[in-house]
Amino acid sequence: MAPLVLTEPSACSDKKNNLKDTLQRPLQDLRISVIDQCNLRCAYCMPVDHCHEQYSFLRKEERLHFDEIVRLVNIFVRQGVAKVRITGGEPLLRENITELIEKISAVKGVRDLALTTNGILLPRFARMLKNAGLKRLTVSLDTLDDKIFRALNGGRAGVAQIIDGIRAAEAAGFISIKINVVVKKGINDHCLLDLVNYFKGTRHIVRFIEYMDAGNRNDWQKDLVVPSAQILSRIREHFSVRNIEPNYYGEVADRYQLTNHKGEIGFISSVSQPFCQDCTRLRLSPDGKLYTCLFAGEGKDLRTLLRNGATDEAIYLVTENLWKNRTDRYSQERSTGGGAKGILKKVEMYQIGG
Ligand code: SAM
Ligand code: SF4
Ligand code: SF4
Repeated sequence: MAPLVLTEPSACSDKKNNLKDTLQRPLQDLRISVIDQCNLRCAYCMPVDHCHEQYSFLRKEERLHFDEIVRLVNIFVRQGVAKVRITGGEPLLRENITELIEKISAVKGVRDLALTTNGILLPRFARMLKNAGLKRLTVSLDTLDDKIFRALNGGRAGVAQIIDGIRAAEAAGFISIKINVVVKKGINDHCLLDLVNYFKGTRHIVRFIEYMDAGNRNDWQKDLVVPSAQILSRIREHFSVRNIEPNYYGEVADRYQLTNHKGEIGFISSVSQPFCQDCTRLRLSPDGKLYTCLFAGEGKDLRTLLRNGATDEAIYLVTENLWKNRTDRYSQERSTGGGAKGILKKVEMYQIGG
């Protein structure tokens, strides 16, 4: 039987009209963080000593309304965006999230619509998300060891809840789910094979993500990063794998097919092998700030423009200018010990999404 190669829609086959930045990178993707709140407290993202009971998250009126988000999506589509991902915080905590999915999936030019979630609320939402037009799901699950998982997420959920979420998503018709695994040395790196074993033979794609120095709160240290090459060589001791081509220009994961099993694994190596040269992503925070890099300090405030009556053309010009002047290459600079250190205050991961 021919080997199964899983693909996702090529969202941008014609890049000639996309805006290009100073490094000739086309604008293709938009990530929309819809809420800064979460029902977990993963230490690498939202450490509990920072996001405690008294922490003040955005108030409802501070977050962009759905109509404001959709208006921006329409503008970005004209600039080249064809793939949209909804994220957070935990996006399924945003009230009426399926309504937003419905509205964005109706925007002409959005060819791919995905959502990243910790999976806890999928039993309640999976079917509604599918019916609303969501095409793909990513679920985060760092280990199958319940004790380690609870220690990682602030003790707020167990592995079984996430597996239930994945099952609910399968039942709702999401056939190929990406499983995001953040790898931290000495915490979960000894049990990664369990995840490959568990999901082999399914269509789900386990993706190992190098622990990143996102935000200012997670006490990141480089020696806590396990380079993807090390994980791959451990996997190769047990599985036969074959490198496969990216699905589309700008894909961040290096893909491998498990040759003796149905399925695929991937590696996102932003620390050991930065991919800034192909970075095609724009990121919108829940309060309407637009970022051109995951590690940026400041975002462009679009909420004020939207609420002060700016026309679509005025917003188009502001955002066009932002992308055309974009120079970001934080991860490459990090790897050469260069300018990235100059960013003292970075946006937090739970404010902007992964
Ligand atoms: N709450 C949802 C979730 O966890 O899937 C969506 C938002 S979360 C910020 C998006 C992704 O970022 C998750 O897969 C998470 O594991 C990843 N992430 C968060 N902090 C990270 C870090 N410091 N390094 C690498 N990945 C991180
Ligand atoms: Fe919440 Fe996702 Fe951050 Fe974990 S990674 S704290 S689930 S937003
Ligand atoms: Fe893109 Fe910034 Fe990440 Fe580089 S560091 S890949 S520019 S988000």
